[in-house]
Amino acid sequence: VAAPRTALAPTASSSSSRSKDKHGNVEIVEITETRRDPSTGATSSHKYHKGRMLGKGGFAKVYHATSVDSNKTYAIKIVPKANLVKSRARQKLQAEIKIHRCLKHRRIVEYKHFFEDRTNCYILLELCHNQSMNELIKRRKRLTEPEVLFYMAQLIDGTRYMHTNNVIHRDLKLGNLFIDRHMSIKIGDLGLATKLTHSSERKRTICGTPNYIAPEIIDGKGGHSFQVDIWSMGVIMYTLLVGKPPYEAKDVKSTYKRIIANVYTFPDHVSVSERAKDLIRSMLQSKPEMRPTLDQVQNHEFFTANDVKIPLSLPQSSTVEQPRWR
Ligand code: ADP
Repeated sequence: VAAPRTALAPTASSSSSRSKDKHGNVEIVEITETRRDPSTGATSSHKYHKGRMLGKGGFAKVYHATSVDSNKTYAIKIVPKANLVKSRARQKLQAEIKIHRCLKHRRIVEYKHFFEDRTNCYILLELCHNQSMNELIKRRKRLTEPEVLFYMAQLIDGTRYMHTNNVIHRDLKLGNLFIDRHMSIKIGDLGLATKLTHSSERKRTICGTPNYIAPEIIDGKGGHSFQVDIWSMGVIMYTLLVGKPPYEAKDVKSTYKRIIANVYTFPDHVSVSERAKDLIRSMLQSKPEMRPTLDQVQNHEFFTANDVKIPLSLPQSSTVEQPRWR
Protein backbone atom coordinates (compact mmCIF):
# COMPACT_ATOMS: atom_id res chain seq x y z
CA VAL A 1 0.00 0.00 0.00
CA ALA A 2 1.42 3.37 -0.96
CA ALA A 3 1.80 5.50 2.13
CA PRO A 4 -0.71 8.32 1.91
CA ARG A 5 0.67 11.76 2.65
CA THR A 6 -0.79 13.22 5.76
CA ALA A 7 1.21 16.45 5.69
CA LEU A 8 0.31 17.14 9.28
CA ALA A 9 3.83 17.95 10.40
CA PRO A 10 6.10 18.36 7.41
CA THR A 11 9.16 18.97 9.58
CA ALA A 12 9.02 15.56 11.28
CA SER A 13 9.80 12.12 10.04
CA SER A 14 10.75 8.93 11.78
CA SER A 15 12.11 5.47 11.45
CA SER A 16 11.57 2.53 13.70
CA SER A 17 13.87 -0.32 14.63
CA ARG A 18 12.33 -3.75 14.74
CA SER A 19 13.04 -7.02 16.46
CA LYS A 20 11.41 -10.44 16.37
CA ASP A 21 9.38 -11.63 19.35
CA LYS A 22 9.39 -15.24 20.61
CA HIS A 23 6.87 -16.24 17.96
CA GLY A 24 9.04 -14.78 15.21
CA ASN A 25 6.71 -11.81 14.65
CA VAL A 26 8.40 -8.57 13.70
CA GLU A 27 7.81 -5.93 16.33
CA ILE A 28 8.76 -2.27 16.57
CA VAL A 29 10.75 -1.69 19.77
CA GLU A 30 12.18 1.75 19.23
CA ILE A 31 10.74 4.73 17.40
CA THR A 32 13.03 7.45 16.15
CA GLU A 33 11.64 10.83 15.29
CA THR A 34 13.71 13.15 13.14
CA ARG A 35 12.88 16.81 13.51
CA ARG A 36 14.09 19.42 11.06
CA ASP A 37 14.37 23.04 12.03
CA PRO A 38 12.60 24.82 9.13
CA SER A 39 14.76 27.96 9.41
CA THR A 40 18.22 26.38 9.70
CA GLY A 41 17.54 23.02 8.08
CA ALA A 42 19.38 21.31 10.97
CA THR A 43 17.97 17.94 12.03
CA SER A 44 17.75 16.33 15.46
CA SER A 45 16.60 12.83 16.43
CA HIS A 46 14.47 11.77 19.35
CA LYS A 47 14.19 8.14 20.34
CA TYR A 48 11.32 6.51 22.19
CA HIS A 49 11.27 3.00 23.61
CA LYS A 50 7.95 1.40 22.86
CA GLY A 51 6.55 -0.43 25.89
CA ARG A 52 3.41 -2.44 26.57
CA MET A 53 0.15 -1.87 24.76
CA LEU A 54 -2.27 0.29 26.77
CA GLY A 55 -5.29 -0.22 24.57
CA LYS A 56 -6.77 -0.46 21.10
CA GLY A 57 -9.21 1.84 19.37
CA GLY A 58 -11.00 1.73 16.05
CA PHE A 59 -7.95 2.45 13.90
CA ALA A 60 -5.10 2.87 16.37
CA LYS A 61 -3.15 1.07 19.04
CA VAL A 62 -1.86 2.96 22.05
CA TYR A 63 1.42 2.01 23.75
CA HIS A 64 3.46 3.06 26.73
CA ALA A 65 6.48 5.03 25.45
CA THR A 66 9.62 6.31 27.16
CA SER A 67 11.74 9.10 25.73
CA VAL A 68 15.36 7.87 25.64
CA ASP A 69 16.66 11.46 26.04
CA SER A 70 14.56 12.62 28.96
CA ASN A 71 13.29 9.31 30.42
CA LYS A 72 9.79 10.88 30.43
CA THR A 73 6.89 8.54 29.86
CA TYR A 74 4.05 9.07 27.39
CA ALA A 75 1.21 7.27 25.71
CA ILE A 76 1.89 6.92 21.98
CA LYS A 77 -1.01 6.40 19.61
CA ILE A 78 0.13 4.56 16.49
CA VAL A 79 -2.10 4.74 13.45
CA PRO A 80 -0.94 2.54 10.54
CA LYS A 81 -1.11 4.47 7.27
CA ALA A 82 -2.77 1.40 5.75
CA ASN A 83 -5.79 2.45 7.84
CA LEU A 84 -5.69 5.93 6.30
CA VAL A 85 -5.98 5.01 2.64
CA LYS A 86 -9.54 6.33 2.47
CA SER A 87 -9.57 10.11 2.42
CA ARG A 88 -12.38 10.15 4.98
CA ALA A 89 -10.23 8.34 7.53
CA ARG A 90 -7.35 10.71 6.82
CA GLN A 91 -9.57 13.77 7.21
CA LYS A 92 -10.90 12.37 10.47
CA LEU A 93 -7.40 11.98 11.93
CA GLN A 94 -6.41 15.44 10.69
CA ALA A 95 -9.51 16.94 12.31
CA GLU A 96 -8.80 15.11 15.58
CA ILE A 97 -5.24 16.44 15.69
CA LYS A 98 -6.23 19.96 14.65
CA ILE A 99 -8.75 20.18 17.49
CA HIS A 100 -6.75 18.30 20.14
CA ARG A 101 -3.50 20.28 19.65
CA CYS A 102 -5.32 23.55 20.44
CA LEU A 103 -6.83 22.30 23.71
CA LYS A 104 -4.77 22.71 26.85
CA HIS A 105 -6.47 22.09 30.18
CA ARG A 106 -5.93 20.03 33.32
CA ARG A 107 -9.00 17.88 32.51
CA ILE A 108 -8.03 17.09 28.91
CA VAL A 109 -5.41 14.45 28.01
CA GLU A 110 -2.47 16.59 26.94
CA TYR A 111 -1.54 16.47 23.27
CA LYS A 112 2.27 16.55 22.98
CA HIS A 113 3.00 16.24 19.29
CA PHE A 114 2.64 14.40 16.04
CA PHE A 115 5.14 12.79 13.67
CA GLU A 116 5.02 10.19 10.94
CA ASP A 117 7.14 7.78 8.93
CA ARG A 118 6.38 5.73 5.84
CA THR A 119 4.21 3.20 7.65
CA ASN A 120 2.65 4.96 10.62
CA CYS A 121 1.39 8.19 12.14
CA TYR A 122 2.38 8.72 15.76
CA ILE A 123 0.59 10.92 18.28
CA LEU A 124 2.40 11.48 21.54
CA LEU A 125 0.03 12.00 24.46
CA GLU A 126 0.13 12.54 28.19
CA LEU A 127 0.15 9.11 29.88
CA CYS A 128 -2.80 8.31 32.14
CA HIS A 129 -1.70 5.71 34.67
CA ASN A 130 -5.04 4.40 35.91
CA GLN A 131 -6.74 3.34 32.65
CA SER A 132 -10.21 4.59 31.79
CA MET A 133 -13.45 4.71 33.77
CA ASN A 134 -14.62 1.76 31.71
CA GLU A 135 -12.14 -0.54 33.44
CA LEU A 136 -12.93 1.18 36.75
CA ILE A 137 -16.64 0.42 36.52
CA LYS A 138 -15.94 -3.17 35.42
CA ARG A 139 -13.85 -3.72 38.56
CA ARG A 140 -16.04 -1.77 40.95
CA LYS A 141 -19.46 -2.53 39.38
CA ARG A 142 -20.76 0.86 40.54
CA LEU A 143 -19.46 3.87 42.44
CA THR A 144 -20.61 5.62 45.62
CA GLU A 145 -22.27 9.05 45.36
CA PRO A 146 -19.28 10.96 46.80
CA GLU A 147 -17.08 9.42 44.09
CA VAL A 148 -19.63 10.35 41.42
CA LEU A 149 -19.66 13.92 42.79
CA PHE A 150 -15.87 13.99 42.54
CA TYR A 151 -15.68 12.68 38.97
CA MET A 152 -18.72 14.56 37.62
CA ALA A 153 -17.36 17.88 38.95
CA GLN A 154 -14.17 17.24 36.99
CA LEU A 155 -16.09 16.18 33.88
CA ILE A 156 -18.07 19.44 34.04
CA ASP A 157 -14.79 21.36 34.38
CA GLY A 158 -13.24 19.77 31.26
CA THR A 159 -16.43 19.94 29.20
CA ARG A 160 -16.90 23.61 30.08
CA TYR A 161 -13.39 24.32 28.79
CA MET A 162 -14.17 22.55 25.48
CA HIS A 163 -17.56 24.26 25.06
CA THR A 164 -16.04 27.69 25.85
CA ASN A 165 -13.70 27.01 22.93
CA ASN A 166 -16.65 26.04 20.70
CA VAL A 167 -15.56 22.39 20.72
CA ILE A 168 -18.20 19.65 21.12
CA HIS A 169 -16.62 16.33 22.12
CA ARG A 170 -19.54 14.20 20.83
CA ASP A 171 -18.19 10.92 22.21
CA LEU A 172 -18.08 11.37 25.95
CA LYS A 173 -18.23 7.87 27.42
CA LEU A 174 -16.53 5.95 30.22
CA GLY A 175 -13.86 4.59 27.83
CA ASN A 176 -12.82 8.14 26.90
CA LEU A 177 -12.48 9.35 30.48
CA PHE A 178 -8.96 8.46 31.56
CA ILE A 179 -7.74 8.52 35.15
CA ASP A 180 -4.27 9.85 35.92
CA ARG A 181 -2.00 8.91 38.84
CA HIS A 182 -3.74 11.44 41.11
CA MET A 183 -7.15 9.89 40.38
CA SER A 184 -8.15 12.89 38.29
CA ILE A 185 -10.17 12.61 35.11
CA LYS A 186 -8.61 13.47 31.77
CA ILE A 187 -10.97 13.61 28.80
CA GLY A 188 -9.41 11.93 25.76
CA ASP A 189 -10.07 10.63 22.23
CA LEU A 190 -11.24 13.68 20.30
CA GLY A 191 -11.84 11.51 17.23
CA LEU A 192 -15.48 12.59 16.87
CA ALA A 193 -15.06 16.14 18.16
CA THR A 194 -15.99 19.18 16.11
CA LYS A 195 -15.18 22.86 16.40
CA LEU A 196 -17.99 25.25 15.56
CA THR A 197 -17.18 28.46 13.70
CA HIS A 198 -19.66 30.28 15.94
CA SER A 199 -21.56 28.98 18.97
CA SER A 200 -24.97 29.07 17.25
CA GLU A 201 -23.85 26.86 14.35
CA ARG A 202 -25.62 23.49 14.16
CA LYS A 203 -23.89 20.31 13.02
CA ARG A 204 -25.79 18.00 10.71
CA THR A 205 -23.40 15.14 10.18
CA ILE A 206 -21.00 13.15 12.28
CA CYS A 207 -18.29 10.88 10.97
CA GLY A 208 -18.64 7.81 13.21
CA THR A 209 -21.07 6.62 15.85
CA PRO A 210 -20.89 8.03 19.33
CA ASN A 211 -21.49 5.46 22.04
CA TYR A 212 -23.74 7.48 24.27
CA ILE A 213 -25.57 8.95 21.29
CA ALA A 214 -28.20 11.66 21.84
CA PRO A 215 -31.65 11.30 20.21
CA GLU A 216 -31.18 14.40 18.00
CA ILE A 217 -28.12 12.77 16.38
CA ILE A 218 -30.11 9.59 15.61
CA ASP A 219 -32.97 11.74 14.28
CA GLY A 220 -30.55 13.90 12.28
CA LYS A 221 -33.15 16.38 11.02
CA GLY A 222 -32.61 19.55 13.04
CA GLY A 223 -28.86 19.20 13.55
CA HIS A 224 -27.12 19.02 16.92
CA SER A 225 -24.96 21.15 19.18
CA PHE A 226 -23.37 21.35 22.65
CA GLN A 227 -26.37 19.65 24.30
CA VAL A 228 -25.26 16.26 22.95
CA ASP A 229 -22.42 16.35 25.49
CA ILE A 230 -24.90 17.06 28.32
CA TRP A 231 -26.90 13.99 27.21
CA SER A 232 -23.74 11.85 27.32
CA MET A 233 -22.95 13.22 30.78
CA GLY A 234 -26.40 12.02 31.88
CA VAL A 235 -25.63 8.56 30.48
CA ILE A 236 -22.23 8.59 32.22
CA MET A 237 -23.67 9.62 35.60
CA TYR A 238 -26.40 6.96 35.39
CA THR A 239 -23.85 4.28 34.45
CA LEU A 240 -21.51 5.21 37.32
CA LEU A 241 -24.31 4.98 39.89
CA VAL A 242 -26.28 2.02 38.50
CA GLY A 243 -23.49 -0.07 36.97
CA LYS A 244 -24.90 -0.35 33.45
CA PRO A 245 -25.94 2.19 30.78
CA PRO A 246 -29.58 3.33 30.83
CA TYR A 247 -30.59 2.39 27.27
CA GLU A 248 -28.66 -0.88 27.00
CA ALA A 249 -30.45 -3.46 24.85
CA LYS A 250 -29.71 -6.67 22.94
CA ASP A 251 -28.48 -4.85 19.82
CA VAL A 252 -27.77 -1.35 18.51
CA LYS A 253 -31.12 -1.02 16.75
CA SER A 254 -33.03 -1.78 19.95
CA THR A 255 -30.81 0.64 21.89
CA TYR A 256 -31.62 3.41 19.38
CA LYS A 257 -35.33 2.61 19.71
CA ARG A 258 -35.08 2.92 23.48
CA ILE A 259 -33.19 6.23 23.16
CA ILE A 260 -35.80 7.67 20.76
CA ALA A 261 -38.65 6.52 23.03
CA ASN A 262 -36.52 7.58 26.02
CA VAL A 263 -37.21 4.41 27.99
CA TYR A 264 -35.07 3.77 31.06
CA THR A 265 -35.69 3.07 34.73
CA PHE A 266 -33.74 3.14 37.96
CA PRO A 267 -33.57 -0.47 39.20
CA ASP A 268 -35.05 -1.03 42.67
CA HIS A 269 -32.07 -2.99 43.98
CA VAL A 270 -29.67 -0.05 43.57
CA SER A 271 -29.98 2.88 45.91
CA VAL A 272 -29.64 6.21 44.09
CA SER A 273 -30.56 9.46 45.87
CA GLU A 274 -33.54 11.51 44.65
CA ARG A 275 -31.17 14.41 43.92
CA ALA A 276 -28.99 12.24 41.69
CA LYS A 277 -32.06 10.87 39.88
CA ASP A 278 -33.39 14.38 39.35
CA LEU A 279 -30.12 15.57 37.80
CA ILE A 280 -29.88 12.49 35.55
CA ARG A 281 -33.51 12.92 34.42
CA SER A 282 -32.88 16.55 33.54
CA MET A 283 -29.79 15.71 31.45
CA LEU A 284 -31.57 12.83 29.71
CA GLN A 285 -34.41 14.91 28.26
CA SER A 286 -35.19 14.18 24.63
CA LYS A 287 -35.48 17.83 23.68
CA PRO A 288 -31.94 19.25 23.71
CA GLU A 289 -33.13 22.76 24.65
CA MET A 290 -34.75 21.35 27.83
CA ARG A 291 -31.44 19.96 29.11
CA PRO A 292 -29.56 22.02 31.68
CA THR A 293 -26.54 24.12 30.73
CA LEU A 294 -23.21 23.19 32.34
CA ASP A 295 -23.70 25.98 34.89
CA GLN A 296 -27.15 24.66 35.73
CA VAL A 297 -25.71 21.14 36.14
CA GLN A 298 -23.03 22.46 38.47
CA ASN A 299 -25.58 24.45 40.49
CA HIS A 300 -27.93 21.49 40.85
CA GLU A 301 -28.62 20.45 44.45
CA PHE A 302 -26.77 17.17 43.81
CA PHE A 303 -23.63 19.34 44.04
CA THR A 304 -24.81 22.31 46.11
CA ALA A 305 -27.15 21.10 48.88
CA ASN A 306 -25.91 21.98 52.39
CA ASP A 307 -25.10 18.42 53.38
CA VAL A 308 -23.12 17.64 50.20
CA LYS A 309 -19.37 17.28 50.50
CA ILE A 310 -17.41 16.83 47.28
CA PRO A 311 -14.28 14.82 48.18
CA LEU A 312 -11.06 16.76 47.59
CA SER A 313 -9.27 13.58 46.54
CA LEU A 314 -9.87 9.85 46.19
CA PRO A 315 -7.56 7.11 47.47
CA GLN A 316 -5.70 4.99 44.90
CA SER A 317 -7.42 1.96 46.49
CA SER A 318 -10.76 3.20 45.09
CA THR A 319 -9.72 1.83 41.68
CA VAL A 320 -10.46 -1.62 43.13
CA GLU A 321 -12.63 -1.15 46.22
CA GLN A 322 -15.19 1.15 47.73
CA PRO A 323 -13.49 3.95 49.66
CA ARG A 324 -14.21 4.11 53.40
CA TRP A 325 -15.24 7.65 54.30
CA ARG A 326 -14.06 8.88 57.67
P1 ADP B 1 -9.33 5.34 19.05
O1 ADP B 1 -9.37 6.80 18.72
O2 ADP B 1 -8.75 4.52 17.94
O3 ADP B 1 -10.64 4.79 19.57
P2 ADP B 1 -8.39 5.75 21.76
O4 ADP B 1 -7.85 7.14 21.79
O5 ADP B 1 -9.77 5.54 22.31
O6 ADP B 1 -8.29 5.18 20.26
O7 ADP B 1 -7.39 4.80 22.52
C1 ADP B 1 -7.55 3.39 22.59
C2 ADP B 1 -7.22 2.85 23.98
O8 ADP B 1 -5.85 3.16 24.32
C3 ADP B 1 -8.03 3.46 25.10
O9 ADP B 1 -9.24 2.80 25.31
C4 ADP B 1 -7.08 3.28 26.30
O10 ADP B 1 -7.16 1.97 26.83
C5 ADP B 1 -5.72 3.49 25.69
N1 ADP B 1 -5.27 4.90 25.82
C6 ADP B 1 -5.53 5.90 24.93
N2 ADP B 1 -4.97 7.06 25.33
C7 ADP B 1 -4.34 6.81 26.50
C8 ADP B 1 -3.57 7.63 27.43
N3 ADP B 1 -3.35 8.92 27.19
N4 ADP B 1 -3.07 7.04 28.53
C9 ADP B 1 -3.31 5.71 28.76
N5 ADP B 1 -4.02 4.90 27.95
C10 ADP B 1 -4.53 5.42 26.83
